[in-house]
Amino acid sequence: MWGLRIGVIAAICVAIVFPAFSRPPQALPSPLANNPKLIEDLVYANHILYHQEVLDGFGHVSVRSDRDPSHFLMSRSMAPGLVTSADIMEYDAIGEPVDARGRNSYVERYIHAAIYRVRPDVKSIVHSHSPDLIPYSVTGTILRPVYHVSAFLRLGAPIFDTQAGFGDTDMLIRDNKLGDALAKVLGNSGIALIRGHGFVAVADSTQVAVYRAIYTQLNARVQAEGMKLGTIQYLTPGEAAKAQAITEGTVARPWELWKAQVGKIE
Ligand SMILES: [Zn+2]
Repeated sequence: MWGLRIGVIAAICVAIVFPAFSRPPQALPSPLANNPKLIEDLVYANHILYHQEVLDGFGHVSVRSDRDPSHFLMSRSMAPGLVTSADIMEYDAIGEPVDARGRNSYVERYIHAAIYRVRPDVKSIVHSHSPDLIPYSVTGTILRPVYHVSAFLRLGAPIFDTQAGFGDTDMLIRDNKLGDALAKVLGNSGIALIRGHGFVAVADSTQVAVYRAIYTQLNARVQAEGMKLGTIQYLTPGEAAKAQAITEGTVARPWELWKAQVGKIE
């Protein structure tokens, strides 16, 4: 008995004096280790946006790292509806993976890198190829806030056209030059359309970025339906400013519902 106690006391003393000796050997620290809540929300965002049909097999969502704000977190290249926390990778300020370990990256990760570089207020970005938005990117019809839940569209939905400055491309934002040009067109808006391609939604949290992406798509549908019936009376700038404060201030409510709808994540 005494021998056991002496042994325990000796082990504690060794641990205090030589802490490194008493720890089990560990793998290299994960670059993601400090951000469990960010990663959980990011995985939910992938599944929610797939469930809401804003993303399909393509598109992606990212979040700015809170450990290193010049970096961001995003899934490896895969369908958003299948993303798990093990698929989340860290990217540096120019969109290159910090620790790829053989995993492939989304070609269009430069969308995210470029916007994070010039918009310190942006903490999360969604990139979607939603077909509901494409008509507004190619016809000259302007996407405008039709109802209160999409009041954030008051900030505008400028259109980035790769043809202007880049000529005939494969339409993808596949490098930092294209990313920078998109970020410049986005300006201070929450949304930018990409001609014949899709859109980006940005916000100061994952929840609001997801909210904006979902309601951008819904506004596009409602606006198209309204235009069939007649002339739309859009929200005034004053109405939109007041409505945005209310709707985005209560985004936690739909966020919890959306999480429940997608169920358990890994
Ligand atoms: Zn794309």
